[in-house]
Amino acid sequence: MRFQEIIGQNELKEKLVRTIRSGRISHAQLFFGPEGSGALALALAYARFLHCSSPLPAPAAGGSADACGQCPSCQKYHKLVHPDLHFIFPVAGTPQVPKNPVSKNFYDKWRDFVLNTRGYGSLIDWYNHIGIDRKQGLINAEDASEILKTLSYKSFQGGYKIMVIWMVEKLFHAAAPKLLKVLEEPPDRTLFLLVTENPDQIIRTIQSRTQLVKVLPIADPDMNQALARIENPGQVRIADVVRMAQGNYREALRLFGQDNPDKELFERFRQWMRLCFQNKAQDLLDLVRVMASEGREAQKQFLSYSLRMVRESLLLGVRGEALSKLTAEELDFVRNFSPYVNPANGPAFAQALEEAIQHTERNANAGILFTNLSLRFSALLKVKAA
Ligand SMILES: [Zn+2]
Repeated sequence: MRFQEIIGQNELKEKLVRTIRSGRISHAQLFFGPEGSGALALALAYARFLHCSSPLPAPAAGGSADACGQCPSCQKYHKLVHPDLHFIFPVAGTPQVPKNPVSKNFYDKWRDFVLNTRGYGSLIDWYNHIGIDRKQGLINAEDASEILKTLSYKSFQGGYKIMVIWMVEKLFHAAAPKLLKVLEEPPDRTLFLLVTENPDQIIRTIQSRTQLVKVLPIADPDMNQALARIENPGQVRIADVVRMAQGNYREALRLFGQDNPDKELFERFRQWMRLCFQNKAQDLLDLVRVMASEGREAQKQFLSYSLRMVRESLLLGVRGEALSKLTAEELDFVRNFSPYVNPANGPAFAQALEEAIQHTERNANAGILFTNLSLRFSALLKVKAA
């Protein structure tokens, strides 16, 4: 990844280059931004620029200075095999690596993943890529020890040794002291680039030892430009994708080429709400069983979708249909659903879903969680508008 390959974020790119040029390189930086904003891609472009032996000046037409793309260091970056670029990321046991998995075991797959997604992939994409979608990945204590070991060697090219830690909030609590220690007393000429979508889930003591690099959602005009350059196999208009993706490039790609990418989520949500409304206990339990059997990230995705639908239902009465971000089918459902989600019960609906998302992240028992939610919704759907 070079700066010029990253969608939008021009101000941030220029700021990053300025800090390097003025020698204000903080040894620990936290790149944080929402899914699909490009936080990992930016961290990689930053690392590449630092390692490049003959960086290019900013083009006259606008944009930031950038790595050259030609020098030996850049050549290695093409394949993410630079000897002074290291990675730590969440992993879990797989049939190939059943015991004590560490990032190193997955390096080949990791390179594929980052190069294929150009740094815009999400955690669920990564889990799917290595076949652990039913588990929660972790950065465990063995990996934290690996950081120390790796950084104790001299750098190959005499420059910085750079350690990229992706989704650092997945750091297992027992591993935190090791990382903290090395952040406090970093080996000479080392750089930590921590990347996350959820900065509030990072242990405070770690966060306080980093310089924050805030990555905003991609601006609509930048997204528009990026999408116009790629082939659009589907029927969706670029303007609609830009509007629905809300600055998330991964989401924009997902929306591309599909009439309704959330169809499965929609159909399940509709079924769930119907069963809750009708109070069909046995059917509800069957559905709960299906939902509980899926991976955590898939559960989170469904709960987030449900939250979105509840909010859209609440907003429908306020701002009308013209501003709705729903597909025709979703809108049709929401029209019938919105009378049951009113100011009297809507906030409780949303709160229950927000809490469920948090609990899912903390490994709550999914069967109990979905059962409780179903009971709560059955009760809430009977609350009449005041
Ligand atoms: Zn170069």
